[in-house]
Amino acid sequence: MSQPTKLSVPFVSFRPMEKELDGDLRAAFDRVLQNSWYIEGREDEAFEAAFARYCGAAHCVGCGNGLDALVLILKAMGIGPGDEVIVPSNTFIATVLAVSYAGAAPVFVEPLLATYNIDPARIEAAVTPRTKAIIAVHLYGQCAQMDAINAIAKAHGLKVIEDAAQAHGATFQGRRAGSLGDAAAFSFYPGKNLGALGDAGCVTTNDPDLAQKVRALGNYGSDYKYHHIYKGQNSRLDELQAAFLAAKLPHLDRMNAERRRIAGRYCAGIRNPAVVLPTAAPGCEHVYHIFAVRCARRDALEAHLNACGIGTNKHYPTPIHRQGAYRELGLGPGALPLAEEISATELSLPMYYGMTDAQVQAVIDAVNSCKE
Ligand SMILES: *Cc1c(COP(=O)(O)O)cnc(C)c1O
Repeated sequence: MSQPTKLSVPFVSFRPMEKELDGDLRAAFDRVLQNSWYIEGREDEAFEAAFARYCGAAHCVGCGNGLDALVLILKAMGIGPGDEVIVPSNTFIATVLAVSYAGAAPVFVEPLLATYNIDPARIEAAVTPRTKAIIAVHLYGQCAQMDAINAIAKAHGLKVIEDAAQAHGATFQGRRAGSLGDAAAFSFYPGKNLGALGDAGCVTTNDPDLAQKVRALGNYGSDYKYHHIYKGQNSRLDELQAAFLAAKLPHLDRMNAERRRIAGRYCAGIRNPAVVLPTAAPGCEHVYHIFAVRCARRDALEAHLNACGIGTNKHYPTPIHRQGAYRELGLGPGALPLAEEISATELSLPMYYGMTDAQVQAVIDAVNSCKE
């Protein structure tokens, strides 16, 4: 096997994207400054229309971030104290915090190891008379099995919410994330596949009443100025971030395709028998927000890669039920073995638009030269 190379590869870099879109981003900033209008204006309207069209959803409502998008959906659906919401046991904590913020109880369902997404075959056993919704997370950039999830939801009268924060542009049976359930939450955190230059998020849905209620809830519960029908919050997409997002959206498919090309090179080049590569499920077009591998001796692999100058990350090192914030659930070690297994073995390799071929090869060589 080849020797580890000295070329250093960061876990993520925005520089190639920023260099390429520099002129577009500056023009967006100038336009907003010229308009002298910063909240709820034409930039918001234009981006919301463009992103709804992109996702294949009838409506898009901007908001402050991905966590708020989830909370606003749950509240708009009337989900709150006394209700249960099914969530995957392995996800970013925001999915579960949203349920807590709404006042409802999260109920964890374990994933499929092959895709890291919620296992539809385990959902029915978690349904109780209090269950109101299922949050399907499209983890790492691959859609959950939405046909099976929607069928279970229909049989039990449940709502389906997509947490699409990692899946901008991902498709399931030819349809894009954001159009696959009753409503979807997106984050435009800078590191996401479509990222703002700060915090931002949105909700997509085909339901006009839900869209209207989400918009009101995110704007002090107001349907028109100084008229408040709900005890809402302040979570809006500002004009500047909307303008930046509108400048980046036309490049999303091309940048996702580049991520898929890098993932293809990783999958073809990595030949370390200790490393489990990600798989694309039938009907899914993965957008590789994260390129997640698993390795029994994950920490040794990580140390080796870092020593070779390769940046890595873990998504996520502690499962949610083992976090102090969720101590109240009383879920000890072994309570959710698949979530714990993924937390203990997952390692994320560098993945970003603009990685050079030499950098991709350096990652492959470093993984293959690990003797652990
Ligand atoms: C990033 C993320 C969120 C939260 O988005 P923010 O904009 O950071 O609030 C929610 N769910 C998942 C799966 C995420 O990756």
